[in-house]
Amino acid sequence: MDTLSELIRCPRCRARLKSDVGKIVCTNTDCLYASLGFERAGDQPVLIDFESSIFSRPNPGDPMLSVVPRVDRRRTLRNRIRDLFEGTNQTAVENSLAVRRALKSLSPAPKLLIIGGGGLGAGVTTFLEDSSIEVVATDVYASPNTQLLCDAHHLPFDDGMFDGVWVTAVLEHVLEPQVVVDEIWRVLKPSGVFYAETPFVQQVHEQAYDFTRFTASGHRWLFRRFEEIDAGVIRGMGTGAGLAWSVRYFVRALSSERMATLVSLPFFLLRHLDRFAHPRQQADAALGLFIWGRKSERSLTPKDMVAYYETQLAWSQNSPRSIGGRP
Ligand SMILES: [Zn+2]
Repeated sequence: MDTLSELIRCPRCRARLKSDVGKIVCTNTDCLYASLGFERAGDQPVLIDFESSIFSRPNPGDPMLSVVPRVDRRRTLRNRIRDLFEGTNQTAVENSLAVRRALKSLSPAPKLLIIGGGGLGAGVTTFLEDSSIEVVATDVYASPNTQLLCDAHHLPFDDGMFDGVWVTAVLEHVLEPQVVVDEIWRVLKPSGVFYAETPFVQQVHEQAYDFTRFTASGHRWLFRRFEEIDAGVIRGMGTGAGLAWSVRYFVRALSSERMATLVSLPFFLLRHLDRFAHPRQQADAALGLFIWGRKSERSLTPKDMVAYYETQLAWSQNSPRSIGGRP
């Protein structure tokens, strides 16, 4: 926590923070949060500027100020059955090993920021089990996996603090993805790495907090201020998986959630056919995409994007190098 207190800044004005009678306050006397201070969820600071956030200031007793207990997804029969049909994300696990190597080439004790780290997403344990990596996990709710709460549009950290940022299944849930990605760029050190996974052909989930989808090219453009290391379709989240999601939502619209789950489950086996799909058609209709790369001082130009579409032809789920990896 000592290091964490060095990293954190006011999400409103980016001034340093200090403890004042047990409360965290902004040191900038002109800032709203110099007097108002920040709430805590358990022992975790809630570093959200509620004046500019989709989230409202919590009252005492509000769920945002409580800590959600750790959930082990694998324990329940329902989740085991779901994993059987929907699969687990091996792409994230495999890519996490490459990201870890990149982090270690930057520093012997790299700092990794996880945005949306409340639940233990696929691949994250690679970093948690490595004691040389300092992980700072954030989310909009507190869990035993997080160290603080924040709104990713205003990351409460100084510039250039992190060697890496991990952001999976998050960017569809933020109002302004480009603002969030610009924040990721800002908090990364020069040559720092990011890893992102975001849905493309996927129906609305998380109810009111779901805003945007990205094509493979749109995903790349979002990260245009980064040099790409690898990108592709997430294994098990290709066109077949997208079709299964569509079947589930179609049946749900006509009947019930229970019927939708029942009818769509066999369709999730279609994801096994994705390995035979043509790379072009797969990239054009995948359920989810990944991209990772390095902070750069050079940005892609609009004209680069036409050529980028062609590079997706080399994405293949059969590639031995990585899923979606270029040969
Ligand atoms: Zn401030």
